[in-house]
Amino acid sequence: MKRRTFLQTSTMASLIPLISQKSFSLPIGSPGKPISIASGNGLQATAKAMEIILKGGDALDGVIAGVNIVEDDPNDNSVGYGGLPNEDGVVELDSSVMHGPTHRGGAVASLQNIKNPSKVARFVMERTDHVLLVGEGALKFAKMHGFKEENLLTEESRKEWVKWKELLSKKDDYLPPHAIDDLDIGANLTEAMKTYGTINCLGLDLAGNISGVTTTSGLSYKIPGRVGDSPIIGAGLYVDNEIGAAGSTGRGEANLLDCSSFLIVESMRRGMSPTNACLVACERVATHTKEKRLLTKEGRPTFNVSFYAINKKGEYGSAAIYEGVKFAVNDGKESRLETAVGYFKIRSNED
Ligand code: ASP
Repeated sequence: MKRRTFLQTSTMASLIPLISQKSFSLPIGSPGKPISIASGNGLQATAKAMEIILKGGDALDGVIAGVNIVEDDPNDNSVGYGGLPNEDGVVELDSSVMHGPTHRGGAVASLQNIKNPSKVARFVMERTDHVLLVGEGALKFAKMHGFKEENLLTEESRKEWVKWKELLSKKDDYLPPHAIDDLDIGANLTEAMKTYGTINCLGLDLAGNISGVTTTSGLSYKIPGRVGDSPIIGAGLYVDNEIGAAGSTGRGEANLLDCSSFLIVESMRRGMSPTNACLVACERVATHTKEKRLLTKEGRPTFNVSFYAINKKGEYGSAAIYEGVKFAVNDGKESRLETAVGYFKIRSNED
């Protein structure tokens, strides 16, 4: 389906921004240098976020409008429409939003058939007394607010899923019964054609307020119902309006076990720069990874995780377990890609 056709199907497209923009009249933070950063697929998202921020908009309006572009894009197979499906061929989306000045958050997980989970997450934040809705309940809630169900599986993603199905062998996520301390379990599993991918977008607005959003179709070909870090406040996203914000992409399980985004914000609270705080999270993930199936022969993680952070002053940074990751930055002009600091060099025995 062409993106144009797809956009036309959203009957709520004009209504939601109206609700969103009027929702908050807020305590003001200290005016900062506006900034928006995102994962490497966020060039357009950060540009959109900054456009809204520079017009005096709330950072949350900016970052959500930014990631909506990527959620709507059939060519990004890691987020929203066109995301790679679970092992049954069903696209399940996760997202969280956090609004610094009110310290409110909302999230949805395992949401099917709704292309903009970040908008639904915002509705959870604004129109319920809860933070996280999942699966069937999240879908019912979205429909109650007028979101339209649609098939999110594009032909391209369906074909990729069929390819994966046809090559199935030891390449799924199930483990046989084993003792809890058997760190060798699954060591022979080969890395399947799995794709991680997500967009995290953070913003500091002209009023000095900070907000963030993370949205994803999660790990490709996951066990149905699997939820990653993206919709979990503290893991895939965290905002403290007095300090800064952090988010992550990559293997969600690692972030769930290390509350990485919260750790980064707390590290900035103790005075670290955004980049160094991201490196703390890389180190924590690397030292906490103990199972053989997740380690190279040098004892390093077989996977990558990337972190993004901004602080109250408008400083920003990014680090990843392995070097080479790009992230998007907009500080008021054109969006550009910068390179995250790598905790390790490329995953090999080179160094
Ligand atoms: N963190 C996401 C998840 O685990 C995937 C990703 O960022 O690539 O669901």
